[in-house]
Amino acid sequence: MTKFLVDRMLGQTAKWLRLLGVDAAYAPKGEDEKLQEIADEEDRVIITRDKELGSEENAILVEKKPPEKIIKKVLDEYDVEIKPLTRCSKCNGVVEKVEKEEVEGEVPENVFELNDEFWCCVGCGQYYWRGSHWEKIMEKIEGILDD
Ligand SMILES: [Zn+2]
Repeated sequence: MTKFLVDRMLGQTAKWLRLLGVDAAYAPKGEDEKLQEIADEEDRVIITRDKELGSEENAILVEKKPPEKIIKKVLDEYDVEIKPLTRCSKCNGVVEKVEKEEVEGEVPENVFELNDEFWCCVGCGQYYWRGSHWEKIMEKIEGILDD
């Protein structure tokens, strides 16, 4: 399973990869020059718009395109497993299913009432559920996969 290190300029790409359940990390702020070092250390493939960096063996050079196109390219070229709702779109942490009781008082009341399944990021504590935006997300993801 390929893990990625995403250029900070490609925030949307990182977000979408995470929504697909793909491990897509950022370099710490201000440490873009260390991308290569981090990628080597953590065995990650760099996704970048930087031509020099993108020409490295463990990097994929992408153009300034809609994130969907970049993701399609990444999925075509690398072995990745699509597992939506397993990774946090905010921090790239692992998302785990939690008991409904656990989120009471932590999510808006109407959300709690309307949903029976909840997930929580072990990294930042963000809660997830299949709200109205969920269908939109899945539609977009399916569009990417079918294209
Ligand atoms: Zn998180």
